[in-house]
Amino acid sequence: MPANILNLPCYKVLGIQENEHDYHIDVEAAEPPTSCPHCQSSNLVGFGRREQMVKDLPMHARRVGLYIDTRRFRCRSCGKTFYEALPEIDEKRLMTKRLAQRIGKQAIKRTFAGIAKEVGCTEFTVRAVFSDYVNELEKTTRFETPKWMGIDEIHLIKPRGVITNIQNNTIVELLPNRNKDTVVRFLHHLEGKERIQYVAMDMWMPYRDAVRAVIPQAEIVVAKFHVVRMANDAMERVRKSLRESLTPKQRRGLMHDRFVLLKHECDLNDKERLNLDGWTKNYPELGEAYRLKEQFFGIYDAESPDDAQAKFIQWQKSIPPEIADAFADIERAWGNWTMPIINYFNHPVTNAYTESLNGLIRVMDRLGRGYSFDALRAKILFAEGARKHKPSRPKFERQERRQPEPGPVMMHGLPGNFKNFEMADSFARMVPKPAPEPKPCIPTSTESGIPEKNYGADISTLIRMIENGEL
Ligand SMILES: [Zn+2]
Repeated sequence: MPANILNLPCYKVLGIQENEHDYHIDVEAAEPPTSCPHCQSSNLVGFGRREQMVKDLPMHARRVGLYIDTRRFRCRSCGKTFYEALPEIDEKRLMTKRLAQRIGKQAIKRTFAGIAKEVGCTEFTVRAVFSDYVNELEKTTRFETPKWMGIDEIHLIKPRGVITNIQNNTIVELLPNRNKDTVVRFLHHLEGKERIQYVAMDMWMPYRDAVRAVIPQAEIVVAKFHVVRMANDAMERVRKSLRESLTPKQRRGLMHDRFVLLKHECDLNDKERLNLDGWTKNYPELGEAYRLKEQFFGIYDAESPDDAQAKFIQWQKSIPPEIADAFADIERAWGNWTMPIINYFNHPVTNAYTESLNGLIRVMDRLGRGYSFDALRAKILFAEGARKHKPSRPKFERQERRQPEPGPVMMHGLPGNFKNFEMADSFARMVPKPAPEPKPCIPTSTESGIPEKNYGADISTLIRMIENGEL
């Protein structure tokens, strides 16, 4: 039995019992203490032993328990007794440090129950280890404060605040709710908050109040999609109010054609255009609503904030009184948020960002079952692989083994009986490759100790991971 089966050089393996599920491994510390921890004297004498069982990383799909034969000593100089210190053991729990590390990492993407079963501990322990692991990550991870920050809503069991870095398309924080106090507290503790230049948000007053209170220098911007979707909503309201006056058959027809109404005029094909004409000729209010919706989108062709505001006023004047109710929300929103809305025309939020955020909102429901908010937040912020430019685990690469020097016959190329590429390929693998180049002496940024900048969790990667069930 190999003494280093554990790959823990600080322990000597004394014996192994195994069954279908478990390894029970007797070990002792490889280097007993040489001096008294109280007085540093080296005059020690053995004073009994005790056995401690700690859990370790599963091996060969079996749970692993280490039975550590822990020695007790008495110091002849000061008379005190002590147990030898056990290296590589977690200070808080009866497990190795490396197991605690693994539980922490795994708990970000797997259920606590699954890990508990694999390791052979309780779910309660997994939860506690995970919580420590996340606390440690919080202390050691700092996301760059975005110059262009986004504050939006995301539904994770209930509505939460999501803080993003718009230029890098990343998430930097998830807040438990959307209250002003919560956002204020977050912004207040944010290092480098005075460098935030723009904050894009949905039209939610507590966000605006929080930003104005803590980072007044930041310009607030409301992105296009938050505004224009209100025009679609208004038109839907008109369509629904019309239903009352229709026969069941017409009602079904209108339901069927509602997608035509939501489309832009330029995107309609001939059949859809005919459909639309039918509805708008017979029901002028619906026609008006469609026109208003299209013209409202047209405001976003404006060249400048002033131009946009002028276009809006003109648009507002053209709202017929019969359907004014349906469009009242837009008018109110524009009135309450005029500056942030027209700021967009100087500082547009990219479509790429808007699309990825919407994508994330769509897949979020797949997360959430059986996890606390803290666990979900940690999953999203600290998911390995979601940090930009860092693969979670490199692909397993076949190792180049040292081969005997090739004989002279092999130097003349492939033997003639290598008929297909596959065989030629496997032959090629037998031929030793030249020794790898020595590693360059210039250290990478992480090796040199200069921390890499960390922009947060990449939204597109998160979406992919959630869709693939990797989170
Ligand atoms: Zn002593």
